[in-house]
Amino acid sequence: MELPCEYEYMNEGLIDDELKCSVCHHPFESPVSTDICGHTFCKKCIETWLLEQQTCPCCRRRVLLSNFNPVSTRVVLNLLNRLHVQCILCRQRNIERGSFKDHKKQCVERIVTCSSADLTCKWTGKSDELSQHEHTCPYRSVRPIVDELRNQNQKLQLTVQKQAEQIRFLSILFNNGKAMSQNCIREDYCRVFFFSLNDQEEPKCDMCHASLRHINIAFHHCDGGCLCKDCSKIHYPS
Ligand SMILES: [Zn+2]
Ligand SMILES: [Zn+2]
Ligand SMILES: [Zn+2]
Ligand SMILES: [Zn+2]
Ligand SMILES: [Zn+2]
Ligand SMILES: [Zn+2]
Repeated sequence: MELPCEYEYMNEGLIDDELKCSVCHHPFESPVSTDICGHTFCKKCIETWLLEQQTCPCCRRRVLLSNFNPVSTRVVLNLLNRLHVQCILCRQRNIERGSFKDHKKQCVERIVTCSSADLTCKWTGKSDELSQHEHTCPYRSVRPIVDELRNQNQKLQLTVQKQAEQIRFLSILFNNGKAMSQNCIREDYCRVFFFSLNDQEEPKCDMCHASLRHINIAFHHCDGGCLCKDCSKIHYPS
């Protein structure tokens, strides 16, 4: 099986077999073990193995993926993290496995993309060649225009959103030609102002669905339906 990372172990032959996975024969990566037989494997290795057969690779007892839990023993994890590895890209030696992630971020041989990759610049290369590329990248000069356009587009979207809200507000206010009113027209049976008399629920703003006290009602329809003062202020500026 392939090594899962871009490093190789230094003096791998000298590493204690107790720290090695019997599926891939390398030191454990994200070790998991099971109570059923106590055997430990790399997470990836046992996942792949169990796709084929539901038995422990060591003792052949019947196990399922759900029987495995991550190894959390500090001593084991520390031993694994302290193993020394060599980067296969830049050949730097004696990197602790636990800090290889940090090395990867700054490895001089790592492959990076152009900062204009979002503008479809296809360039990739080693990190130390990046600044040279970016000086001559044809997308560089387009960047300010694109940023400006994105900015404008965002503003436009906000405007469209605002307009849609306003239209919703107006369609509630002028519901099928039966416009809501600021005053109560049918006090004798109004379902909004006198909801309790009519066994109605507390009125809610049709726009923002907030429960309303009388004082917060801007418009209503005695048959039911109302709009709050907050929504009116936003969508019906007088
Ligand atoms: Zn393994
Ligand atoms: Zn086993
Ligand atoms: Zn490296
Ligand atoms: Zn570029
Ligand atoms: Zn409202
Ligand atoms: Zn009313």
